Amino acid sequence: MKIQRKLIRDIFYIAILFFMFTLFISKKYIIDPLTTFEMKMVHDRVNRLEIYIDRKCKLLFDIAQDYAKWDDTYNFVETKNDEYIKNNFSYEGIFDKNEVNFLFILDKKGDILYERYHHSNYYDELINKTIKIRILPTIKDYISTIRSDTVGIQAIDKTPIILVIQNIQNSKVSALSNGYFIIGKYINREEIKNINNELAINIASIDVVNSINNSLEINNNYIFSSKTFFDIFKKPSITFKVKFKRIFYTETIKNLKLFFLLSLILIISSILIFIKRLKASVLDKILLIKNTINKISETSNLNLRIPITKEDDEISELSIDINSMLNKLEKTSKRLKESLDDIYYLAYHDNLTQLPNRLKAIRYIEDLINVQRPFHVILLDIDNFKNINDMYGHDLGDAVLKYLSKKLQNNIRKNKFLARIGGDEFLIIVENLRSDFQIQNIVNDIINLLSKPLLIKSDKLYIEASIGIAEFPKDGSTLQSLLKNVEIAMYESKKKKLKYQYFNSALNERALTNLTLSNKLKQCIENNEFIIFYQPIYSLKENKVCGAEALVRLNLDNKIIPPSQFIPIARELGLLPDIDNLVLANSIKQCKIWIDSGMKDFSISINTSFRQIINENFIDFVKNTITKFNVPPQDVTLEITEEEALEDLELVTEILSRVKELNVNIAIDDFGTGYSSLNYITRLPVDILKIDKSLISNINDKKNIEIIKAILSMANSLKLSVIVEGVESEEQLNILRGLNVEKIQGYLIDKPLCKEEFETKYLKGC
Ligand code: C2E
Ligand code: CA
Ligand code: CA
Repeated sequence: MKIQRKLIRDIFYIAILFFMFTLFISKKYIIDPLTTFEMKMVHDRVNRLEIYIDRKCKLLFDIAQDYAKWDDTYNFVETKNDEYIKNNFSYEGIFDKNEVNFLFILDKKGDILYERYHHSNYYDELINKTIKIRILPTIKDYISTIRSDTVGIQAIDKTPIILVIQNIQNSKVSALSNGYFIIGKYINREEIKNINNELAINIASIDVVNSINNSLEINNNYIFSSKTFFDIFKKPSITFKVKFKRIFYTETIKNLKLFFLLSLILIISSILIFIKRLKASVLDKILLIKNTINKISETSNLNLRIPITKEDDEISELSIDINSMLNKLEKTSKRLKESLDDIYYLAYHDNLTQLPNRLKAIRYIEDLINVQRPFHVILLDIDNFKNINDMYGHDLGDAVLKYLSKKLQNNIRKNKFLARIGGDEFLIIVENLRSDFQIQNIVNDIINLLSKPLLIKSDKLYIEASIGIAEFPKDGSTLQSLLKNVEIAMYESKKKKLKYQYFNSALNERALTNLTLSNKLKQCIENNEFIIFYQPIYSLKENKVCGAEALVRLNLDNKIIPPSQFIPIARELGLLPDIDNLVLANSIKQCKIWIDSGMKDFSISINTSFRQIINENFIDFVKNTITKFNVPPQDVTLEITEEEALEDLELVTEILSRVKELNVNIAIDDFGTGYSSLNYITRLPVDILKIDKSLISNINDKKNIEIIKAILSMANSLKLSVIVEGVESEEQLNILRGLNVEKIQGYLIDKPLCKEEFETKYLKGC
């Protein structure tokens, strides 16, 4: 449309220029010469009028001269004889023929000797009535001053009158005049009409004047030309104004106007036709191209093409070119899209299992959070996956992950989203749950799935996993908090061997404490902020407290933190040996104090750990401590759990043998749980078995009694003494008594007590 407007504007300017040029040419080469021509015509006409009037004057002057210079006339003035009048003026011929309207013969003084009037029309008759009184003063005026023969145009009441005055003279004495012969002729309306007809002119007006006016007036329709004539005194007396109708001029102007109008119509219709054609063959097509391109850029739809018309012109060619460019662009964009899809796939998928990866999971969660749609995240972490890799190799590890992915995928397909977000971590996102049961069902399904062995290369492999569950927005309103909390829940489930754990705020609190702990533990060791509690060990044979187990606690900001909370952290940070050594030294010192205070046959049991005992200085440390506090080594028992001992059985056996050389007792802690491969017991230099509380808590279970019995008989044959832990009730005690158990430990006797309490309760009785 912009081109159209520009073109119209340009054409408009060209049209204006054309009109101005034509106007200029018409004026210079048509109108101006025409005006000059017409002015010349008018000039000719006025000339004709002048010649006509002059001729009339001359004619009358000559007639008057004939009479005035005639002796008969001279004699008449002298004699006043009637004969002269009768002979010359008795008939009208002289007047009619010569168109004379009045005749006066005056004597020398100016008195009228003869007067005669003639009229040939009504106007002549009208003037004749008063002419004598009107003209005679002028004549008398003339003959009293100038007197010579004359002719002139006098104005009487706007009527021009040709007046001739001739001195009457005889042939003999020509110098003397005895009177005046005067004739006059009216140029009245009738005469004007004649003049107009005869000369083919148009006298518009006759004005009485006293100055010369030979001007030319011109307007669009007429040219007026004035001619002034003189009276007998040779003064300007009357002006004839000749009017000329400008027929050529007006006709030409009319024709020119018509020409301009037709040109205008022609130009406008040409413009309209041109614009229409331009619109149809250029602008509309350009608009079509523009609209198609706009549509493509708006919708990004590269399938769109410019419709091609059959016309074979440049714009159609352009459209074809653009379309072929679009074809190429479409192909390129398709290829680009495919590449992008590949990149997208690679960026968002795990190469091994082809599942969405961590990044994709994050995006997925972010999208859900953005629309504030509630959902659950389930984090599944394979337990001891490192061991599978270590024991069977990475190929099998990969196969396990692939197999598990497939199984999970088949299982949770309906629940939308599964991703592998880490080595052995899977994340499941579940939306649109209608009840809490549903999430539990999904979790149960997964547990069920895991309970079946994985068939890998026809081998059956049992794997276990820990599951954490968190809900948006209840358990975390941001991606970070949600992922952190589901991880906390998963770790809790792993730690407690729970299979699954829903996130709750207490977990979070604990996780926070854990975080504080990891940051503060080192400092706590430096400041020895640990407290040791002592739990009595009771001898059923002797019916008395025969020892105590040292159990460590952390006093953090006046809050007593149990070992279950900080020991795993300390172990992970490599700080557990320091704590253990601290406990070892302090409890041996305490033992000495109590022995010195009168506790007889009292021994102290101290927990140790694998990392602690494998330290090359450990044996020396134990030895030095015992020596330093001067405690009988047989009153010191070092406990180690099956799990810790089995970290490296050979090494532990060697170390413990050397410890044994110090005469210190060795106890296997938490016996009856975990590996329970009795084989190692025979190899380890053990003195005491501490039967784990899990076997006692279900003592009604006959199977457990049988296990305890078996352990007791094994201990008996190996000459090991036994302490049963976790005895809480009289019922348990009675059963244990029946089984001849030597020593017990548990809440039934007492819970772990702080030093002071222990002293109050057990030192006093000694
Ligand atoms: P553990 O060596 O088996 O210690 C006995 C645990 O059982 C203590 O928990 C004690 O409070 C608890 N207990 C005693 N009688 C009963 C009972 O009748 N019923 C029940 N349900 N529990 C009973 P505590 O003090 O929380 O210690 C937990 C574990 O922390 C210990 O288990 C031990 O493995 C570890 N631990 C404690 N102190 C140390 C330490 O200084 N060094 C190391 N390496 N481990 C320690
Ligand atoms: Ca113990
Ligand atoms: Ca124990």
